Amino acid sequence: MENLWNDTEAGKQQGILAERIYSSRLLGANPNLVLHGGGNTSVKGVSKNIFGEDEATLFVKGSGSDLATIEPKDFVAVRMESMLKLSRLEKLSDLDMARELKLASLDPNAPAPSVEAILHALIPHRFVDHTHADAIVTLTNTPSGEARIRELFGDEVIVLPYVMPGFDLAKLCAEVFPAQATPRTIGMVLMNHGIFSFGDTAKQSYERMIALVGRAEDYLKKNAPLIPATGIEPVANWFDLPELRKKVSAAAGFPLLLRSIANGATLAFARHPDIAAISQRGPATPDHIIRTKQLPMLGRDVEAYVQAYKKYFEKNSRSAPTPLTMLDPAPRVIIDAEFGLVSAGRSARDTQIIEDLYLHTQDIIRRGEMLGGYRALGETDLFRVEYWDLEQAKLKKAGAPKAFAGEVALVTGAASGIGKACAQAFLNRGAAVVGVDINPAVASLHGERPDYLGIVADLSSTDAVRGLLEQTIRHYGGLDMLVLNAGIFPGGRKIGALADEEWRKVMAINLDANLAIMREAHPLLKAAPRYGRVVVIGSKNVPAPGPGAAAYSASKAALTQLARVAALEWGADAIRINLVHPNAVFDTGIWTPEVLAQRAAHYGMTVDEYKRNNVLREEVTSKDVAELTAEMCGALFSKITGAQLPIDGGNDRVI
Ligand code: ZN
Repeated sequence: MENLWNDTEAGKQQGILAERIYSSRLLGANPNLVLHGGGNTSVKGVSKNIFGEDEATLFVKGSGSDLATIEPKDFVAVRMESMLKLSRLEKLSDLDMARELKLASLDPNAPAPSVEAILHALIPHRFVDHTHADAIVTLTNTPSGEARIRELFGDEVIVLPYVMPGFDLAKLCAEVFPAQATPRTIGMVLMNHGIFSFGDTAKQSYERMIALVGRAEDYLKKNAPLIPATGIEPVANWFDLPELRKKVSAAAGFPLLLRSIANGATLAFARHPDIAAISQRGPATPDHIIRTKQLPMLGRDVEAYVQAYKKYFEKNSRSAPTPLTMLDPAPRVIIDAEFGLVSAGRSARDTQIIEDLYLHTQDIIRRGEMLGGYRALGETDLFRVEYWDLEQAKLKKAGAPKAFAGEVALVTGAASGIGKACAQAFLNRGAAVVGVDINPAVASLHGERPDYLGIVADLSSTDAVRGLLEQTIRHYGGLDMLVLNAGIFPGGRKIGALADEEWRKVMAINLDANLAIMREAHPLLKAAPRYGRVVVIGSKNVPAPGPGAAAYSASKAALTQLARVAALEWGADAIRINLVHPNAVFDTGIWTPEVLAQRAAHYGMTVDEYKRNNVLREEVTSKDVAELTAEMCGALFSKITGAQLPIDGGNDRVI
């Protein structure tokens, strides 16, 4: 395991919290140690209170932050005295503990301290590092896991049996640590959970973590080497995936995105001869269950999965001290011989995290099999974590999801103007967005974020259309909303001078390409969990054409008629299709300041008068059109199809 410590960098850190942050980020930088918020760290120091007195303080990671990107504000300062006093209580419920931890904080605005805070306080070393390292979890999840750990680490680590994180685990540590710790003790392994290391300095604690996990990794390399799968060809019919998404979303009761990864490793795992057994033994650490659920779904039988989940809930909730409400019974991990690994989540970020967790789990299972058989914690322990009141409280606090959470919007012509604004409007409402444009700028318009996929494509090719829909499906599982915006507006030309070639080009892009994308996207829209929606960006030229734009006006009028027929044909599939007819939207690429000034002068107006040359004297922006477009896909328009709305500030020829 690579040691990332750098004395020069570390030397620049001023004070113990800065050192703590430096080495926490080193842990976070290695996904085999820390994955998506797993693990936590602490350091013990002194704070001055308002009376000028010194107070012994534990700086511990707050919940909700990630070690890879942790900052000073993500650490909570809690009174050591309160931590130690709490650890001497006989009993403390999890909710009471969470409240007491919050009360022990020196800053009421700080995040909630980690549920492992008391445990950190009890370890009599200044720096404490904790990870759910893959190699450790792999070893502990095998039949003779504890023996292997003891053989590997001897008296350098203390071994604790699995106990749910929280007060009981801290109590156990309070008992075992003083009894078993020797001057040689540098770490502590929690069975089926992870590992702690500690030391007097940030470097010592970090390097002990690297050394301990490194030893476990070497053991695995020797005794359970992972050989990459070769010669496996992906053969999936991706256009079947939206149907599966519809069923999974129906089981959840809300739309979910599906992200898939079909490579050698995931396909080999999905086609493993014992997959039915090995995939159904539980998660690598109980920590994962919150995101992945207890078990993955094998294949595509959602109904059977839901029934099994309901049984699992009924059986295990019977012994709960207070009545529990069942979480949605939809799977979050799907293992399929064709699709490979599919993760289901409410946001693109969720699906990415779930995918990462399961890619690691897959390797842990394969290695566990080589070491005598992968095994996980029992169902009862797992259920306790899944229905932990602290987790339930977090879910309640999270509030209502955004309007388009779990849904996918595809916008054509998304590199600039109205299309770009539409992509933003849908992102703002929680949708995953696919922006398509012939302009390569579309790929990087919204930065690196999992909920945006920019595709460079020429929509006049039906193959390209099918290709981009396949990419949409592989990234997000399907399509819910389609915004047909791409189009061209050639320079003004009277009919007498209009060449066949120009006419055909305008028709090909403004009309034919939209027919192709509508036809190819129809099965996807039909499978949308909350029914598909289409918005066509038309033009004022449809109801009120002007001279010199015959090809453009005719193409938009034909597109309008196409959309009206689609509204009639697709109503039976509950797909809604509506149109907007914008006019004089000047914040787009075509309208440079020079062109604007020229046109305004042509009409004897100032630029501002020209921009507001409508009944309401209001300037219409790309954002105005985008907001209306997004709303047309929302609840307000749920009973409207085939409608045409002008968005032009009022035009006397349209009114
Ligand atoms: Zn932990």
